[in-house]
Amino acid sequence: MIVAFISDVHANLEALQAVLTDIEKQHVDRIHFLGDAVGYGSEPNACVELIDSNCDIKLLGNHDYAALGLESPASFNDVARVSIEWTLTELSSRSTTALADFEMEAVDGNFFMTHASPRTPELWEYVLNIESAREQFKHFEQQVAFVGHSHLPAFFCKRSDDTLSQRYITESELDPDSRYIINVGSVGQPRDHDPRACYVTVDTDTNIIRYHRVEYDISKAVARIESQGLPQILGERLLVGR
Ligand code: ZN
Repeated sequence: MIVAFISDVHANLEALQAVLTDIEKQHVDRIHFLGDAVGYGSEPNACVELIDSNCDIKLLGNHDYAALGLESPASFNDVARVSIEWTLTELSSRSTTALADFEMEAVDGNFFMTHASPRTPELWEYVLNIESAREQFKHFEQQVAFVGHSHLPAFFCKRSDDTLSQRYITESELDPDSRYIINVGSVGQPRDHDPRACYVTVDTDTNIIRYHRVEYDISKAVARIESQGLPQILGERLLVGR
């Protein structure tokens, strides 16, 4: 079975459509969404609807949480706060109802999933390096935890002898005796200097994990952001992937 993991769509419809088309070509059996359907981008309703209808497991991110009014956007930086306040006025009741059913964490067989950190999903911690990853392995029982949130692909491996490593991979075979924390990158606002949309697949028969990068019409997404009067930086950063 092939499972796809997508995260951090951030209301970028062009990126999401391109990724879903690419996923179809990979003969994927299940799609899991790790949170942040909305925020930053210009098409929150269309993205929520596509995620809701295409994904099997659907998780909440911190931007979704704020868009549901579950958390004040006061803790966000200026640009994020402006975009969440805009999203609050744009979101249809249908989208709000769909988002309200998204979960904070989920399990599918050997896979644990949450938006930010296994330890405290509701605190939206970042897992960026070996030091922060080490503690997180104590907070899920499954072999692999899939996360998003930082918009940076990351691959942490904990071997049976307790040694921890962080590697850059595009493809790897998961060792059944090791455990992993895998950040699947971002569909709608990559920040690793590669502007292409990012997602991950795992083949549960071969244990092969792959990062996929997908080109999409970035200029169209930028134009839509501008036409909605959202901060210009939200479009500019898509062009450079950071
Ligand atoms: Zn995000």
